[in-house]
Amino acid sequence: MADNYDVLIVGGGLAGMTAALYAGNYGMKTGIVERMMGGASIINIEKIDNFPGFPEGISGAELGPAVQEQAMNAGADFIMGETTKIAKDGDYRLVASDAGDIRTKTVIIAAGSTLRQLGIAGEEEYFGRGVSQCATCDGPLYMNQVVAVVGGGDSAVDEALTLAEYCERVLLIHRRDELKAQKSLVDRMTENRKIEVVWNTVIEEIVGADTVSGLRLRNTLTNMENVVELSGLFVYVGLEPNSGLVDSLLKTDNAGHIPTNVSMETEVPGVYAVGDLRQNSSSQLISAAGDGATAAVAAFKYISAKNWN
Ligand code: NAP
Repeated sequence: MADNYDVLIVGGGLAGMTAALYAGNYGMKTGIVERMMGGASIINIEKIDNFPGFPEGISGAELGPAVQEQAMNAGADFIMGETTKIAKDGDYRLVASDAGDIRTKTVIIAAGSTLRQLGIAGEEEYFGRGVSQCATCDGPLYMNQVVAVVGGGDSAVDEALTLAEYCERVLLIHRRDELKAQKSLVDRMTENRKIEVVWNTVIEEIVGADTVSGLRLRNTLTNMENVVELSGLFVYVGLEPNSGLVDSLLKTDNAGHIPTNVSMETEVPGVYAVGDLRQNSSSQLISAAGDGATAAVAAFKYISAKNWN
């Protein structure tokens, strides 16, 4: 079993890295277990516009490593591994991952969420061959081609804007007649002549041969179907919390989010949940960072108040 930690953070996105920064600065022995690189999924965000302090915006590829560097400078260890389970071990908590089992006084769960899939015909078959969930990584592959984005939230509109930098035309396919994305993004999209919104429409099937060649669409008002020819589909239809690893330790709500109080404490003492996977998160980067700081402060108070053997 690896060294005892005061605070072990599961997930190295903005919530986890901010928790590590604060925990390190409080002088606690701190580790972050992350399966990808520091910054996790924010690395793929082309431009973050609403993070305070960056009036011109900042890319995820800049912000992620910068926050990781700050956390490491505060003394946190970065442990590359995929966490499989979090459990109790007497007064301690145990984090099991493919990097081994680690004992810790407190755990901050910052495992984030995964992009939801549509679950339609062709989606799995063509994933990586025309179906994608990363506009920043795959957008350049569709230079001067026609692609579609499905969804009506901030992610769909944000990523349609990214794709419009490369593609000849971007169809934003939305099942209703109103977007839920924030006004600033919708305004930017409306000004962009390459993006066209296809309202009241669902995708029935992704069609193609070796790669995607089109989508069979259905208008939800008329039930009329048509096939549109294009080369790529980017799926942004919401998020699923990565909370499966706490199944045996904590209750989650119907959507899989972990309930916490305002100090980010869960029902199990010494275990905190932050960012996207906690109940009532606003799913914004700045609130994720705030959650991380709050949890680290709570962990410090918890450890200070308890007699450890
Ligand atoms: P979201 O806000 O949950 O929106 C999901 C969208 O997908 C909705 O428009 C929904 O339609 C649609 N949808 C869901 N299931 C569908 C299905 N089966 N078929 C077709 N459409 C479907 O998810 P998100 O856009 O990924 O955003 C998640 C969170 O991250 C939000 O809190 C958002 O504010 C945040 N975020 C912020 C930024 C930013 O600030 N720039 C960028 C990205 C994400 P309905 O509208 O009909 O429900």
